[in-house]
Amino acid sequence: MTDYSIHACHLYGNLLNTYGDIGNLLILEYFAKKIGVSFTYEVISLDEAFEQTAYDFVLFGGGQDFEQSIVSKDIQSKKESLTNYIHNNGVFLGICGGFQLLGDYYIGANGEKISGISAIDYHTDSQKNHRFIGDIKIYNKEFDETYVGFENHNGLTYLGKGIQPLGIVQEGFGNNGEDQTEGVHFKNTFGSYFHGPILPRNVHLAKRLLKIMLEKKYQEDFSSVLELK
Ligand code: GLN
Repeated sequence: MTDYSIHACHLYGNLLNTYGDIGNLLILEYFAKKIGVSFTYEVISLDEAFEQTAYDFVLFGGGQDFEQSIVSKDIQSKKESLTNYIHNNGVFLGICGGFQLLGDYYIGANGEKISGISAIDYHTDSQKNHRFIGDIKIYNKEFDETYVGFENHNGLTYLGKGIQPLGIVQEGFGNNGEDQTEGVHFKNTFGSYFHGPILPRNVHLAKRLLKIMLEKKYQEDFSSVLELK
């Protein structure tokens, strides 16, 4: 019998982990254990290499501009391996600050340019003395699913041409408060402003991500994961 296992990376988990973003790993661990899949994770942070073939999943959480600017400098040394991971269909969840840093740049609240890794075509500008704070609800047409969460961000993210959002805003602000987009869905990378954390509040999305990880790794049908209670 195959021993199924998932090994995840909590990218800069000691610096970017706002509002319990780590709960995204805990809910995946919970569902994985239910079906006899072992689930482990490790933090990869400053001055550590990101091994692009070592992980079945990466979580990159949100945080304050200060921590983001520290991460922004360090992450340039991981830019190539992270970009390869994303472009080779690695399963990735970037939340808020982490979502912003996968794009070209984020202009922080004090005007500082915080470079991203340009893995996906989008950029984030700043709002003057204002933040988008509150509950948010979006609709994902591809999966015919609705997701709810809590957003708190200064950044205004604009997706590049042809880049798909995670969903269309039904309530709340989303990427920029103008174009109704929220987050990003690129290959197997999901980006969002949703804290909550997003996966425990939207277990259908948690199961979907787990299914993608398992099917990618084992080339088997794991549709039953979506039925987990
Ligand atoms: N510092 C970023 C912003 O304010 C990200 C915030 C977050 O991760 N919650 O836009």
